[in-house]
Amino acid sequence: MMTGVLLFLITLCVIPLDGYADDFSREREAMVRTQIRARGIRDRATIDAMRSVPRHLYVHNVQRRNAYQDRPLPIGFGQTISQPFIVAYMTEIIEPKPEHRVLEIGTGSGYQAAVLAEIIDEVYTIEIIQQLGERAREVLDAEYDNVHVKIADGYYGWEEHAPFDAIVVTAAAEYIPPPLVEQLREGGRMIIPVGSAFQTQQLMLVTKEEDGHVSTRSLMPVRFVPFERADE
Ligand code: SAH
Repeated sequence: MMTGVLLFLITLCVIPLDGYADDFSREREAMVRTQIRARGIRDRATIDAMRSVPRHLYVHNVQRRNAYQDRPLPIGFGQTISQPFIVAYMTEIIEPKPEHRVLEIGTGSGYQAAVLAEIIDEVYTIEIIQQLGERAREVLDAEYDNVHVKIADGYYGWEEHAPFDAIVVTAAAEYIPPPLVEQLREGGRMIIPVGSAFQTQQLMLVTKEEDGHVSTRSLMPVRFVPFERADE
């Protein structure tokens, strides 16, 4: 009898605690401290965005508990949500400003688009897998009115909204798609993993000078899912 009452009281105490744990704010703070700041991300806006976006809402229910771990996670259709550090790194390197217009290729879960949307006024993102694009659009629409999702082959960019101050490509291309370079504004920056599928690729920074001259710089080795083509 006593044990029964005791168990009942314990349950009452545990339920609210569980509710608190569900919002993952402590996990997110720890992620920002140990994976983002400790590894050299300094841009205030990027750090604040990583602190704000509930990463666990961009993964499947079964992955929620893993959402803040230091690794990519599967999101279905053989695709992944990038590791938190990579998302922060790619955000910081484009030097995002509120008045910018940015294009992302590879919406996937929508998480990178959400991080960008915390900082930048207009975010355009393209996903080639219809089901992923639709799911991401649903999650993003509930939270943001400055993110536009298109389902298409991102190789061709998004001509109607070009030029872009920045382009973030989150799938590994064999080479830098020329239409994306064309749609980059003078003074703009593009970040893109370049290399063969299923091998280590190079994360490249592409900059277009004010005079239109384009230069590329290798930043670090990475592993991304492959950039797919609609007509191949
Ligand atoms: N930025 C994503 C990462 C997703 S992984 C996130 O934060 O979750 C890369 C995504 O790029 C995959 O969803 C894949 O389907 C998509 N992709 C691959 N090739 C593409 C292409 N040519 N155009 C648009 N999306 C592409």
